[in-house]
Amino acid sequence: MRAVRLTGPGKLELMDVPVPEPGPGEVRIAVGATGACHSDLHILDAPAGIYPVPMTLGHEIAGTVDRPGDGVTAWQPGDRAAIYGIQGCGHCRGCLTGRENQCREVPVGGIGLSRDGGLAEYVVVPASRLLPTGDLELTQAAPLTDAGLTPYHAVELARPALRPGTFCVVIGIGGLGHLAVQILAATTAVTVIAVDTSDAALELAKRVGAHHTVRSDAAADRIRGLVGGPPDGADVVLDFVGVDATTRLGRTVVATGGHLLLVGLGGGQLTLKPTAEEPPPVPLEVTARIPFWGTRAELREVIALARQGRVHTEVETFPLEEAVRAYERLRAGDIRGRAVIVP
Ligand code: NAD
Ligand code: ZN
Ligand code: ZN
Repeated sequence: MRAVRLTGPGKLELMDVPVPEPGPGEVRIAVGATGACHSDLHILDAPAGIYPVPMTLGHEIAGTVDRPGDGVTAWQPGDRAAIYGIQGCGHCRGCLTGRENQCREVPVGGIGLSRDGGLAEYVVVPASRLLPTGDLELTQAAPLTDAGLTPYHAVELARPALRPGTFCVVIGIGGLGHLAVQILAATTAVTVIAVDTSDAALELAKRVGAHHTVRSDAAADRIRGLVGGPPDGADVVLDFVGVDATTRLGRTVVATGGHLLLVGLGGGQLTLKPTAEEPPPVPLEVTARIPFWGTRAELREVIALARQGRVHTEVETFPLEEAVRAYERLRAGDIRGRAVIVP
């Protein structure tokens, strides 16, 4: 079969590999769709030794059951499923409480992270990773497993602060961000302020329900004009970029008692404490969190929202042969919503 594999730092190659066989408790999936996540670019940029090579990339997967392994009775050939990408140890405190995204034994274990992923015709996964998707299109189901699940989880973490009529700033309206806007619209009554460097991303934000859109240059002043300066401000800031410019923006516009959720892995630093040069008033009692992916139970809920038509991913599809080009366009900021590879 054909697979797009990480073969070394910065190296992504389309190659022929044997069709994998499912072991006991595993399932072979005929891949229907795999989302191209910005985290894959961070994986490509990582130094040697962090990720196994060669490894088939792709952690946002949906497909059809092709062959259940020994002992798997719950899934039959032809069943459609989304794949929960995290693979925790199953016995630590995180895993035992249903928070595999907090696994203490395998902190970044997962499909397309520590074992072969979905940029291939077939992928083998533990049967426990499968969730039914009903009649949802597979190109819609795949992005939900991360681009949908991760913002859903972040919104869950911030939920007590997302009171009706408060402000939530969403920075970075890409794959995750444009779904965050919809999840906020579907599950809260907050006013959403979307921020991006790209006009096309802001148009998408508006189309999917953002109340205000702000270009990142001069964003701090525009947002303060809407929410006020400290101690007022945004009660919640969801940062899906995570570079210095966006962490600084979040810290500038958050309200006293507000919450900053840093989802983006852009490598920026977040300074919470007021500095000596900062003129008062500064926001006090700010809570910062670094969410990671989400839980299986949350994925089930995001899938339900999508099946009811309340969350829809803006998708551009690519054949497997063009996966490398899709990642080049993602890096250039030239993808709206999610690039999805259809093998
Ligand atoms: P994406 O490339 O689809 O979207 C990024 C968006 O941010 C684009 O619209 C881009 O125009 C915008 N942007 C870039 N720089 C900006 C800036 N300075 N100010 C405002 N907007 C800016 O990326 P994605 O797939 O949605 O992923 C977003 C980030 O989240 C990545 O860093 C990714 O690695 C990370 N991520 C984290 C988790 C987690 O569990 N913590 C999970 C998935 C992805
Ligand atoms: Zn991802
Ligand atoms: Zn664990």
